[in-house]
Amino acid sequence: MITKQPNDYVKIANQQLIKQNNLTLVFNLINRYEPISRVKLARLTRLSPTTISSLVEELLENELVMEVGAGKTNSSGRKPIMLKVNQKSRFVISLEVKKDKNSGGVYDLKCNEIARKSISEYDIAELGNGLISLCEELIEESKLNRNNFLGIALGIPGIINYRDYTVVSSTVIEKLHTNKTFYTELSNRFSNIPILMENESCFAAYAEHTIARSGREGDNILIDINEGVGCGIIIDDNIYKGAWGIAGELGHMTIDMNGEHCECGNRGCLETLVSIPAILKRALKAAEEKKSGVFWELVQKKDLPLFDSFLKAYEDKDPVALETVLHAADCLAFGINNAVNLLDIRQIGISGRITKFGKLFIDRVKQKVKSMSFDLYGDKIQVNYSVLGDDTVVLGGARYLLDNIYRPKRDFANQGI
Ligand SMILES: [Zn+2]
Repeated sequence: MITKQPNDYVKIANQQLIKQNNLTLVFNLINRYEPISRVKLARLTRLSPTTISSLVEELLENELVMEVGAGKTNSSGRKPIMLKVNQKSRFVISLEVKKDKNSGGVYDLKCNEIARKSISEYDIAELGNGLISLCEELIEESKLNRNNFLGIALGIPGIINYRDYTVVSSTVIEKLHTNKTFYTELSNRFSNIPILMENESCFAAYAEHTIARSGREGDNILIDINEGVGCGIIIDDNIYKGAWGIAGELGHMTIDMNGEHCECGNRGCLETLVSIPAILKRALKAAEEKKSGVFWELVQKKDLPLFDSFLKAYEDKDPVALETVLHAADCLAFGINNAVNLLDIRQIGISGRITKFGKLFIDRVKQKVKSMSFDLYGDKIQVNYSVLGDDTVVLGGARYLLDNIYRPKRDFANQGI
């Protein structure tokens, strides 16, 4: 009797992986170039016509694509049958966990929004139930059959442990790491729908890359600066996560080894210098020493939230506010320069509340980055505010799920963490 050797299983696993990747590739090409023929797909992918036929057959069986009649041909031969994405046949749900609310949307195969919902004020201990309710409401509102959902994307503002799908820490939601079961509760409830949990900055960066810039500008990073500093890295049109899934922790890159303590346990991380709380802390200290100026007066009045007082003082060109913002710009430039030297990435996007500091801030960052970079490519580095602005995580999550429709979820759990 012939028995399978362990290597045969490896070969079968590899074949399956190749097939899943090819199905994803063909689906994405149809999505991009529709209507398109099998012949053109074979030409674009360099796969054999037989392989393309069998992949397309599977996509047709799963109702992800459809045939839409004959296309044009230059020769007198048979006109090819054209293929299109079967836009309303399958759907994805994309969710985002925020500090004050959970939001989500339902999207069709062309990433058009079908339904959108938010649930405000939730209890961290009940996050699992909150996300389940949000999904149920989205399914209800979209009036779709739950068997037609291909997956759920879940954007989280924190570092994820991919071994047990829990959150290690979050600078945005202080107690998020204390809820160890929300992912499991969500997967148990929707056991037949795969759930892709990812750091929110990765989804935001993916939206910026694929939707705002149509993937035309190559590799990019998006640095999101609010309460913390998040960062998503896009390399070769895909989210880059490194070996353990935590790549992109730019906020915890050391800029000043003698600097302030950071929540991560180290000193002088970028986050301790450029996050909104860090900027306000530095400005308050400087204003306290000077005891004068617009910011100092607004702080004494206590009429406005602290960030709003600071912004007003900055717009009024208060010296303390200006110095603080320019200092943050310089520190951010150090972080960007480190990232550029490490990854050779030319496109850097900046999003979050830091963008309120406008042209003066971004120009200072650009100028400083240019002064630090190698002459060879200094002019090529583009630092700009995000095109999409806020609220891109849900859209980016949906887009990412759709672009990776057949790809197996990367298994960080088996990499010896
Ligand atoms: Zn840190």
